[in-house]
Amino acid sequence: MAASADLPIQAPASELKDRDRKYVIHPHQRADRDERHIIVRGKGSTVWDAEGNEYLDAMGSANWMGQVGHARPELAEAAAEQMAELQYFTGFDVYSNEPSIRLAERLAGLAPEGIDRVFFTNGGSEGVDSAFKAARLFHFRRGEPDRTWIISRRLAYHGCTYGSGTASGFDLVQHGFGPNLPNVEKVTPPLPFHSELYGGQHPTDFLVNELEQTIERIGAGNIAAMIGEPVMGGAGVVPPPDDYWPRIREVLSAHGILLIADEVVTSYGRTGVWFESQRRGMNADIIVTSKGLTSGYMPLGAVLIRNGIADAITEAEGFFHGHTYFGHPVACAVAMANLDVLEREGLLDRAKQIGEWFEADLAPAREFPTVGEVRVAGATAGIELVADRQSREPLLAGAAAVSAELRRAHHVIVRDYNATVVLAPPLVLERSQARQISEAIVEVVSRLR
Ligand code: PLP
Repeated sequence: MAASADLPIQAPASELKDRDRKYVIHPHQRADRDERHIIVRGKGSTVWDAEGNEYLDAMGSANWMGQVGHARPELAEAAAEQMAELQYFTGFDVYSNEPSIRLAERLAGLAPEGIDRVFFTNGGSEGVDSAFKAARLFHFRRGEPDRTWIISRRLAYHGCTYGSGTASGFDLVQHGFGPNLPNVEKVTPPLPFHSELYGGQHPTDFLVNELEQTIERIGAGNIAAMIGEPVMGGAGVVPPPDDYWPRIREVLSAHGILLIADEVVTSYGRTGVWFESQRRGMNADIIVTSKGLTSGYMPLGAVLIRNGIADAITEAEGFFHGHTYFGHPVACAVAMANLDVLEREGLLDRAKQIGEWFEADLAPAREFPTVGEVRVAGATAGIELVADRQSREPLLAGAAAVSAELRRAHHVIVRDYNATVVLAPPLVLERSQARQISEAIVEVVSRLR
């Protein structure tokens, strides 16, 4: 570890924490959350902090990733080999590099039929912005320049650049940063548990009707695309009704509106398949991916674009958009090694198995008065807490308290989103570890009042 001038090489945890407070601006941190946990090492599904405490990582580095687990030598070697060969050269204009070509071809092979073109980013927000630009440019090039509106959904999380942040349904991402991106409209998300949102109708009937009315109000000729997570993550791991995406897709297609699947969380095996949008019948035009692409070993995102759209945005003066680290050779080499591990170790099947373990082990929590719903989608789960089961009123302080207590008393790391406790562990999670996570949750939640 490199040391700064006056910081000893193995600095005591307290000193690191003080300096962290003094020098680092943390994203998404409220001022009243003054704790610090400095993670120094990992292996598989376990991490250690600077004080030597061991934690079970039930939330993919507390950020929905880590498909292949922590500290795999295969991925470190792939990075070192590529750095020793070619660390970077731009992908702009006429230049390219071999790892990015190989990765793009491999992703095209995994992607749904008709999606063979790949645009690289550093992460999810950039991917979402790139998808918005691609959608608008596609319509522009096809002679429909008025198609600029983006439809997204309340409670969605798409990132925090101006484009992705405006499309997100979390107030804090926008609060005080205005004005936001214009021409973004939000519709109701599919949250079957919250039937109060749908006025007594089946959620899909209500939501399809709402979308049709929204399109009529804005005018189909003004709308570029709709964006949605196949299974909403930040909303608390919420699988929609089975007929939701096929029916939404039908409405969009009838009006020439593109569909962007935000698969930053759900791709590369998280839910047991390569792309959850495909299984859900989204038939997306653009698929935004990141996180699981490298399991977090390098920052990288890939936007998978349907061939006809890719043709339109690369014609004439081309797609004048993209960042310095586009198709970074080291990140792409690491992604290749990551996909090798996913395939070799059958981690997509393992994700399904982890889901079955969570279903079984979390079952006792379903009986508690403070648990509204337990939802599982492959290797990710949400436990939604309620103040009152009848009214489904959220137990807002509950999830944060459960998350803190799990970390403190059980050394299990999860995340809390509004009233939901969320799990998304590495796909190398072992049976005993899955049981340990669920038992800890059941114990802590059983004490909630
Ligand atoms: N989309 C989804 C569904 C996400 O969960 C996230 C991040 O968690 C993003 C987009 C933004 O990705 P990034 O933080 O890499 O910009």
